Amino acid sequence: MEQRMQVLQGDITTLDVDVIVNAANSSLLGGGGVDGAIHRAAGPALLEACRQVRQQQGECPPGHAVITTAGNLKAKAVIHTVGPVWRGGEENEARLLEDAYRNSLKLADANGYATLAFPAISTGVYGYPKAAAAEIAVNTVSDYLTHHSLLRQIYFVCYDDETARLYQRLLTQQGDDPAN
Ligand code: ADP
Repeated sequence: MEQRMQVLQGDITTLDVDVIVNAANSSLLGGGGVDGAIHRAAGPALLEACRQVRQQQGECPPGHAVITTAGNLKAKAVIHTVGPVWRGGEENEARLLEDAYRNSLKLADANGYATLAFPAISTGVYGYPKAAAAEIAVNTVSDYLTHHSLLRQIYFVCYDDETARLYQRLLTQQGDDPAN
């Protein structure tokens, strides 16, 4: 069976997919980590697009997602979602991380896109434990894809070896699961 979820290791900004998801912050005005890399690669048009969204809608709270054009990226669109800051696990972090993944997928579907790449949301500066975050990412996407969706291919883009191994293990387990 064709795998609709795949792990890739490297820089998400180089991918030729319909949608790149950005692990943004609530300001939508750029930051460090993957956010900084996406803005550098996309150029000033992306920041301008983010400014417009912000002007119309205000800040983007954790768990929510907004869509913009993609500037100089190969992608057709960028979906900016805000993951939770890890505060020990008792502050609704898991639910907010799940929402960030699900709302990104819904927005991609609403715009008719077929291929999408996620970074490991919240696992950098925001400090979400990597294994727990990977599990939420894979489970939320897998669950979403069992419902009606135009999305054909989802890539989990991992920057470091440890994250890539975590995702690989989870996807192998999913593949072994007779329910899939
Ligand atoms: P957050 O603030 O949501 O924690 P970060 O950007 O700090 O976001 O980190 C999220 C994840 O993105 C981390 O696992 C980090 O290693 C990874 N990352 C950083 N740069 C890139 C990149 N160019 N492509 C893909 N992933 C990246």
